[in-house]
Amino acid sequence: MARRLKGASSADTRSAILDLIRSSGRVSRIELSEKSGLTEATISKIVRTLIDGGLVVEAGYAESTGGKRPVLLELNAASRYALGVSLDYARISLVLCDINGTVLHSHAIPGARRSKPQAVIDRVAREIGRFLTAHAVVRGDVIGIGVSGAGRLDASGGVLRSSRQTGEWEEFAIEDALGEATGLPVILENDANCAALGEFWSGRVSTAHDFATIYMATGIGCGLVVNGDVYRGASSNAGEIGHVCLDVDGPPCFCGSRGCLEVLATPAAVVRNARERRALWDRLGLREREGEDVRTSFSTIAAAAMSGDSDAAALIRRSADLLAVAVLGLTNIFDLDRIYLAGPGFAIAGPIYLEVVRDVLDRLAFMRKVHPVAVEMGETGPGAAARGAASVVLHSHLTPHHLRG
Ligand SMILES: [Zn+2]
Repeated sequence: MARRLKGASSADTRSAILDLIRSSGRVSRIELSEKSGLTEATISKIVRTLIDGGLVVEAGYAESTGGKRPVLLELNAASRYALGVSLDYARISLVLCDINGTVLHSHAIPGARRSKPQAVIDRVAREIGRFLTAHAVVRGDVIGIGVSGAGRLDASGGVLRSSRQTGEWEEFAIEDALGEATGLPVILENDANCAALGEFWSGRVSTAHDFATIYMATGIGCGLVVNGDVYRGASSNAGEIGHVCLDVDGPPCFCGSRGCLEVLATPAAVVRNARERRALWDRLGLREREGEDVRTSFSTIAAAAMSGDSDAAALIRRSADLLAVAVLGLTNIFDLDRIYLAGPGFAIAGPIYLEVVRDVLDRLAFMRKVHPVAVEMGETGPGAAARGAASVVLHSHLTPHHLRG
């Protein structure tokens, strides 16, 4: 269903039209008029300012519907760039995207590990400088830097407060520090919201869809896009699907509750469950080490499940069943019509999770007779969060009618 734009301010209208062009890929002025409810004269005026500003270009003609063939418009991909950075313990990814959110170049450097935050930011800033020089990108053509990190944001969005890893990152103002070090605007966003906006922007999802991206890395989070923008909640921390309680008498969770999705279904939970099945554990050659090894062990279990090991498949299915129940609740509460599964946790056993979540939503979604709920794979590669972070910049700067606050 198209959301009408009448009554919006002119800046809002301009950015909403730009957003319609983004989500359409290629679109004529007449179609923009139909989709927005604005007159063709108003659309022509707005499109002229977007073309003059270098953000939109004319790109060929549509099929004729009787009269003159209408001119098609699209985003001017090469006009500006956005940088995305994903700050992770083990690895830091950098990507350079055009304004369609297409990754032009990517680069990875060693992770933050236990370094001091300022030292990490200085290293990232130097790397960004080298990265731009290597690809002959003028700093003035970069709209900004999006930074993705795991954890909570404080109410202003500028500080990453991890509820798990304590330490200096808790109170460190990443946006200010990286902004100062690079001279570019910086936006910090959690990894699940980055993944959701990545799908929204470069997947050309229309603002008519309300969807959630379930992001699984070591933990499980979700980014909700409602009315064409990330749903943030009271303190920019909406989407903690990992702490939905699925068993009130279940094992304790670090959040203080019991039986959370996070304790029952994350890669760490799957590895823990595998440890209790000695035959499987030994057969897969899994080791006892905790921490970073969870990713490796989970990958081994996921690969075994995909190649037909029934014990491994049972563990992954159990995780998928629990995830599906949580996603069902979310879908019912927000009346979503689309779910993406994204992040490295789905890289190997994604097809099993996809099948289980699809099945549960097909059978049980409360609105299933009113509209279907599509479940699709999103990006699962190591650069997904960084690409999403670049999309956050594009979304915030190019279509500011969605801006936070
Ligand atoms: Zn919890």
